[in-house]
Amino acid sequence: MLSTGLGRPALRGVTLSRWEIGVGPAVAEHGSVTATAIRAAVRGEVQGVGFRDATVRRARALALTGWVRNGADGSVEVHAEGPEPAVDALVAFLHDGPQPARVTAVAIERVGIEGHEQFAIRGLSAGVFVVQEHVATAHHFDLRLEVDGVMRSWAIPKGPSLDPAVKRLAVEVDDHETAHNTFEGALGAGRVIVWDHGTYEQGGRVAWPEALSRGHAVFVLHGEKLHGGFALQRTRAGPKAQWLLIKRRDEQARPGSDVVAEHPRSVLSGRTIDEIHA
Ligand code: MN
Repeated sequence: MLSTGLGRPALRGVTLSRWEIGVGPAVAEHGSVTATAIRAAVRGEVQGVGFRDATVRRARALALTGWVRNGADGSVEVHAEGPEPAVDALVAFLHDGPQPARVTAVAIERVGIEGHEQFAIRGLSAGVFVVQEHVATAHHFDLRLEVDGVMRSWAIPKGPSLDPAVKRLAVEVDDHETAHNTFEGALGAGRVIVWDHGTYEQGGRVAWPEALSRGHAVFVLHGEKLHGGFALQRTRAGPKAQWLLIKRRDEQARPGSDVVAEHPRSVLSGRTIDEIHA
């Protein structure tokens, strides 16, 4: 199943059929050069041939923004937005692809402009993440994302949720070293377990770490318990900045669920936090 992981319906054949190969993006309704946005699904021998890198180069040369990613079904998916002639030029490129590619079909769908500020490759791991359950003065969960070699960290009193209706307070705390990611056991007078871990992708419209400094960061987790798109939205800046951690509405969202209660055990040892002895 195709997954953008970011709350937007994946490209599916049925939605693409209106804009099949040869049609290209619709002409501008207003007769002048206007901004437009498309989603493309490119089929054929298009993965493992440098297609994403070539698309990034071409899109940036055309001053377009958006993203390119490998689809789970062997396709290459593209979101591009910018002036209509430039989008048309990128679509023309997608019909050929880089030299080793063999494109058999390009399906184009007009979509809304999302306001991207970069053209990025999506679906690449940005590093590791870990969630450590921590009983100290207060019980909380520490979400840590690897950014530029350190683990950016947020303390989440109630822990993460897979329910998009739930907004969890996340208080920014000191960076940790990656060496701490596998720590489990007694910590001072407190206790720690590794509640979840895995890799993550940086998403959103703004490049990282700029997205974090601006206070709105979108990412996709590939953990054992946590999956799919999340957003961190800063609500109060300054020391101990306050953020909200929100699950995005995607195929991995589980409305009404309580993942912290349902899956309390360490992904490393199988222990619960109560089975750790300070
Ligand atoms: Mn902590």
